[in-house]
Amino acid sequence: MLAALSRDIDISCLVLAADNKEISMKLTDDELRKLRNAFNVQKKTQANRKPDRNGNAIRLTMFFEEWLNVWIDSGKIALRGSGRGKFCMSRKNDLGDYAIGNVEIKSCEENSREAKQGRMVSQCTRNKMSASRAGCAKDKEHKAKLSETHRSLPQVKCPHCGTKGRKGGAMTRHHFDRCKSVAPHPA
Ligand SMILES: [Zn+2]
Repeated sequence: MLAALSRDIDISCLVLAADNKEISMKLTDDELRKLRNAFNVQKKTQANRKPDRNGNAIRLTMFFEEWLNVWIDSGKIALRGSGRGKFCMSRKNDLGDYAIGNVEIKSCEENSREAKQGRMVSQCTRNKMSASRAGCAKDKEHKAKLSETHRSLPQVKCPHCGTKGRKGGAMTRHHFDRCKSVAPHPA
């Protein structure tokens, strides 16, 4: 335990007592104070933060010493923070409380990637993404990829007018149920 606790941290030694268990590690008083502050702020404000995706309020149910221990065991306490290259405490599957057994230390990139997975982008954001790309020429590689994808689609034939083309896109838009030869094209 002690060997695991003292890795990566190289400052004066200090001992904390938690649940009759001694946590020994090398952190300065100043660092410890900052960590305790961060923990207290999270504990206090967690209930007012966004609920999880099932609508349940997310609480922080750990004691400071337990929270600190998770960080120390991860070996990433010196990299605690937000943004690229930093590490954060995340909940397993992004559900439930910040509780012993339900948390792990992850890189912030990994954590935000997971949070974004499967999330729908709002129409507002889609419009902005589209606007920022408008007028930008696609590079050669991008064009080749698009072309390759298109060519990999199966050939289909419109049963109404006999036009052949790749499945999807213009064929769906102008043929089959919407073929001009059977009905007026919807406006
Ligand atoms: Zn047709």
